[in-house]
Amino acid sequence: MKKIAIIGGGIGGLTAAITLKNKGFTCDVYERSPVFEEVGAAISVWPNALRVFRKLQILDDVLENCGEIKEAYIKTSTGKVLARTQPVYDLPAVCTHRADLLAALLKQLPPENLHPGHELSDFYTHADGSAHLKFTNGKEVDADLVIGADGIHSALRKKIKGDEVPLFRGYNLWRGIAKLPLEQGYASESLGRGNRVGIVPIRDGLFGWWATANETQGLSDEPESTHEKLKRIFSTWHDPIPQLFDNTPAIIKNSLIDRAPTGGWSTANPVLLGDAAHPTTPNLGQGACMAIEGAYLLTESLYKYGISDRALKIYEQAHFQRTKEITNNSLMLGWLGQLQNPLAANLRNLFFYVQPDKVSMQILDKYFNYDVTNIEI
Ligand SMILES: Cc1cc2nc3c(=O)[nH]c(=O)nc-3n(C[C@H](O)[C@H](O)[C@H](O)COP(=O)(O)OP(=O)(O)OC[C@H]3O[C@@H](n4cnc5c(N)ncnc54)[C@H](O)[C@@H]3O)c2cc1C
Repeated sequence: MKKIAIIGGGIGGLTAAITLKNKGFTCDVYERSPVFEEVGAAISVWPNALRVFRKLQILDDVLENCGEIKEAYIKTSTGKVLARTQPVYDLPAVCTHRADLLAALLKQLPPENLHPGHELSDFYTHADGSAHLKFTNGKEVDADLVIGADGIHSALRKKIKGDEVPLFRGYNLWRGIAKLPLEQGYASESLGRGNRVGIVPIRDGLFGWWATANETQGLSDEPESTHEKLKRIFSTWHDPIPQLFDNTPAIIKNSLIDRAPTGGWSTANPVLLGDAAHPTTPNLGQGACMAIEGAYLLTESLYKYGISDRALKIYEQAHFQRTKEITNNSLMLGWLGQLQNPLAANLRNLFFYVQPDKVSMQILDKYFNYDVTNIEI
């Protein structure tokens, strides 16, 4: 029986483990953290990703702890509504706590195939193309195929594509989860000058939020402290934004990075999946959604063509164009959202205001309506 090793137990790696298991592959997941875990923040899971979970018959497990977006707004920093929409698709547009999504995925997998505390340290291929993996805990395993689902800083990507550094896009982002007195189903993105704040519903009055600022990469919030700094930057913004930060016990900060989209996601071994292959800024909320789609496509291709170079190339051909377009459009939306010049920011706001709401949403519809489970591999 051929063996597949997945390096990385994030959303991409775990979804791939489920799709592969369902098609009868023997597959193990190796994760460097001592437990499978996600950061304490929200994630949007759009209908295009939920269609994969529906196909895998795990939709109910995933939706159990999700909040549905019923009314979404684009606003100015003072609260003027520039655009509004009520998402209507065959499946809901939802947000959830990352840990809940990970738990729903872990539930589908036999514990004997999950290996936390395994950080890949070395990898080489045998003459027959199969792989030998070494982990920092001293374990060594052989696998017929290695899937690199090890995130944006992927060590396996480095093996294939060399030492490229991810690109910093000029702004930092804070995020957290807060209890807020808002209608359940409320979502918004508020636009300022060089700053934005997004709010999405999770469940039971909990909302995920994120806030941005044009800053240098890795800038520390000390000595002011993150909470005080955010309260200062967003003190004049519309409600409930100034209250967000005191209601959030733990705030995470990231510098936003991605890579220019390029193909070449595999040699005969390994093949890259998710952020390791196509990292994107989060402005369209599609990074994990694309990893979920990719897991589905890769499995379908391996199932049809066997573990082979051909299968890996067909997976990439089916997925690359979409990931490239989303990555580029996400970058552009981020640039638009972070405009600092008052004139440029006002023109952007005017653009959203005068567009019929339907037109503003069309760019998103294109991505949300996509059904990867209908793709003929
Ligand atoms: C601020 C922000 C907001 C976002 N919001 C959204 C959103 O709303 N919707 C959405 O779809 N996407 C969103 N994304 C993107 C999403 O988080 C990523 O695209 C997604 O997590 C990628 O999943 P992955 O499994 O490919 O990689 P990761 O989630 O990065 O997982 C990689 C895993 O590999 C492990 N690993 C790394 N190296 C090794 C090694 N050497 N050995 C073993 N294990 C290793 C890591 O510990 C990790 O668990 C957002 C991203 C950011 C930064």
